[in-house]
Amino acid sequence: MNAKDAWLATLGQLQVQLNRATYDTWLRRAELLGYEDGRFVVTVPNAYARDWIERHLLASMTETLTRIFQRPAELQIVVWDPVEPGDDAGGPLVALAGGAPAPEPAPCDFALHPDYTFDNFVAGDSNRYAYLLSKAVAEGPIGRYSPVLLHGSLGVGKTHLLQAIARALLIRGLHVLYLTAEDFTTELVAAIRDKQGAAFRERFRRADAVLIDDLQFVEGKDSTQAELVALWDALRHRQRAMLFASTRLPCDIVRLSKDARSRFQAGPIASIDLPDQALRKAILDDKALRRRLTLPPDVCELLAARITGGVRDLESAVDQLQASMMLTGQHVHAAAEQVLRTLGASVRAGGVTLEMVFEAVAEYYAAPVEALTGRKRSKAIVRARQVAMYLAREMTDASLPLIGEALGGRDHSTVVHGCARVTDMLAAEPGFVEELTALRARLSAPPPIPVPANVSAPPTVRAKALTF
Ligand code: ADP
Ligand code: MG
Repeated sequence: MNAKDAWLATLGQLQVQLNRATYDTWLRRAELLGYEDGRFVVTVPNAYARDWIERHLLASMTETLTRIFQRPAELQIVVWDPVEPGDDAGGPLVALAGGAPAPEPAPCDFALHPDYTFDNFVAGDSNRYAYLLSKAVAEGPIGRYSPVLLHGSLGVGKTHLLQAIARALLIRGLHVLYLTAEDFTTELVAAIRDKQGAAFRERFRRADAVLIDDLQFVEGKDSTQAELVALWDALRHRQRAMLFASTRLPCDIVRLSKDARSRFQAGPIASIDLPDQALRKAILDDKALRRRLTLPPDVCELLAARITGGVRDLESAVDQLQASMMLTGQHVHAAAEQVLRTLGASVRAGGVTLEMVFEAVAEYYAAPVEALTGRKRSKAIVRARQVAMYLAREMTDASLPLIGEALGGRDHSTVVHGCARVTDMLAAEPGFVEELTALRARLSAPPPIPVPANVSAPPTVRAKALTF
């Protein structure tokens, strides 16, 4: 049997063994590029597929291939898609330095937010370990816990804790560098451009602690990853500390070198979950107190029940509440209703179905629903599909496999990836938050908050987010 037939027979075998969604997602576009000296070189369209196959299928595929080919076979998966580049392809850093005009270096001094202190942090079940670990890092001998990774979705307090650590270490007189992975990359590019690589390295390696926020940004940035690996090794050698915060766990960051992954996850990892009802109430009370705002218990209860996203939304609710009460003289109950509408905050309460989510997303992006469930991978469709995954996860009780199945038989890991991409986009594109708010508002029509009898009904306020 020749190599091509052996490969096709192996694929046939896998098609029988695997469920359809898995096969379609990972193997349908795999192609034999060539065969030489026992090595089959197979192409897949993106790094995500390569990594997934290498992690889950490589061993059994090699075994099947060897059996069918009746000779020892080796399998190498490579990314190659000249027709349809992946929607999230990003070149290596060095290419950026040579080709596109290099961005201006960020100032090397870093600013810490004055409110991001341990005193201002409210601990509860979802963030207690992260809080205790951060305190231990801030108060214990430097380098005792290193590396430390704070992980969690957007707005759960990672930056707050990282900066609280930085501040506490600075107060102890230690040499601390805090910056985002994006700023680190920008500075690295500038240093390469200006042939200042040695000075760049020296500045970071002298530090007692280097804190890198939004670590997920390093995905696909080979030079940044290599530089962080070298820095990690140097700091470890001197028993100094390296601390990270990331929306994604290292094992979920695609296009991350093995070296970088093993270092990022080499120490304690504290995952912060979204706050539960009790913590949401405690945070609302705390934020209100600091703003000298009196929050009646029923309003606090309602806001905590409805605003189920990150802490940023809770904070924004208190700010909005205060502003609208001060400027319009509205009663707190009326103001709270308006705030909830603006935040589109009736998620999960309104019996939202997957179909409703898909229809709303399709309509919003002016695409047919079939495009979401189909195979097309144009940038716009991929984005709409990922938004559908994200909102389905947030606004319905459907499981990951069910969402994947409803979106054209996709694997649950595709849904995980889609949601992670949206989380990243939320951090990277300020306008994108508004898109999601508008979509949420379309899907949720919160029942009005009961207004006490002695208060006149508020004028109907049309949420700003609805006017797009
Ligand atoms: P992340 O970095 O995880 O996206 P941030 O640290 O920027 O989130 O937090 C978003 C906002 O919520 C900040 O203003 C922060 O001060 C506030 N916040 C988050 N968690 C808490 C908490 N447990 N107690 C008080 N404020 C919090
Ligand atoms: Mg952050």
